This record gives sequence, structure tokens and C-alpha cells, in this order.
Amino acid sequence: MKTIGLIGGMSWESSAQYYRILNEAVKKKLGGLHSAKCILYNVDFAEIEQYQKQGDWEQAGTVLRDAALALEKAGADFIVICTNTMHKVVPFMEEKLTIPILHIADATAKQIQKCKLNKVGLLGTMYTMEQDFYKSRMEANGITVVVPDKKDMETVNRIIFKELCLGEIKPSSKADYQKVIHSLVNKGAEGIILGCTEIGLLIKEEDSEIPIFDTTIIHAMQALDKAMAE
Ligand code: GLU
Repeated sequence: MKTIGLIGGMSWESSAQYYRILNEAVKKKLGGLHSAKCILYNVDFAEIEQYQKQGDWEQAGTVLRDAALALEKAGADFIVICTNTMHKVVPFMEEKLTIPILHIADATAKQIQKCKLNKVGLLGTMYTMEQDFYKSRMEANGITVVVPDKKDMETVNRIIFKELCLGEIKPSSKADYQKVIHSLVNKGAEGIILGCTEIGLLIKEEDSEIPIFDTTIIHAMQALDKAMAE
């Protein structure tokens, strides 16, 4: 089994899911006392969130790149960044790394292709929904992405930062997300990318009228496949 280098803390609510999913899956696969070989580098999300707000992606990228280099030095075979948004700085990180990064958008695209869907709705932070770094990666994988209207984007984003990243799960917010999902269905979405690693805490398969692609589960499971590949 290879060693997975996790960059977490963005937020730790979702990093905890990665940790749980990885270990449960190894236990299921290998049985007994087996658990996942991983190293977690947890950053301080308050610092990262400030850089995001200021648009200082270079500083944010430097924090993540240093974390990745520390994981590489500690013996990680590849890197998993436990957030969609911060994949914006992947090209910057890759300049200095010698081990690969398992990209969350590629992992998700692979799963969408398996389900033979072409057009999907994207929920995530404002950065992920509005900017190009994530959507273009999906499109490069042959997937058309639709996003919510501006007002709905703001709702989705607010719930991520003010509730889900703080571990607050509210039925009223679930209802808000369901309305946004419905609007994406009206735009032709055949599936919904939960393109923020905390959304799975709020929205499960049964809460959505069309299939969901939970990036946390997909990313963690593909990391495990990679770690356990011959
Ligand atoms: N975990 C979230 C994501 O997947 C949001 C936190 C962040 O801004 O990094 O995008």
C-alpha cells in the first residue's frame, strides 16, 4: 500500500470525512486491523480563507505547496488536497513537487464519465463556480458544466463558509440547496457535482432529484485505488 499525503483543514470537517472514508474502505477491503497508510498535514483554514478573500492565491498556494513538500519529505507517495477550491493553485504547487497530485476534478470527471452523463450542475464555493480553473478541467474531460444564477451562488457559498465549514447542518439550508439543484435541472443538468468537500455533510443521494457526485467520497476512493494499485 502506498502512503497518501493529505492536505487538510479546509475545513477540518471534510478532512475528517476523508480520514474516515479511507480507513473504512481499507478495513472493508483487507479486513481485520488493516488501516490506510496516510499522513495528514492540517493547515489553519482561517489563514487560507483570508488569502482567498484578498485574492492572494500566491500566498495561499505557498502555504499549500510547503505542506505538500513537507508531506513529500515525510514519505508520501502522492498528494490529495482535501478541498475543491484550492485546486486553483495546483499548477503552482506542481512546479516544485516531484510526487503527483491526484486532482479532484479529474477524479470526479472519471466517475461522471462512468455514469455516461454529459451535462452536470456544479455546486461549490463562489471561486469554484465562478472562476475557470475547475470548470475548464471538467470541460477538458468532455463534460459540460452548468452553474447556478448569481443569487443562488451566493446562497450556496454562504452556507459553505458560515455553516458547513463550522459543522452546522440545518434543514433550512438543505431546502435551499434542493431549490438550487432544481434550478440546475431546469438548465439541463443530468447530475450534480457536490464540488465542495463539505456539501456531502448536508446533501445525500436521497435529497437530490438527480444523481449526485460527492467529490469527497469520489476523491478519497480514487486515492485508495491509487494507493492499492499494483
Ligand atoms: N472545502 C471546500 C471546497 O471543497 C471549501 C473550502 C475552501 O475554500 O477551500 O472547496
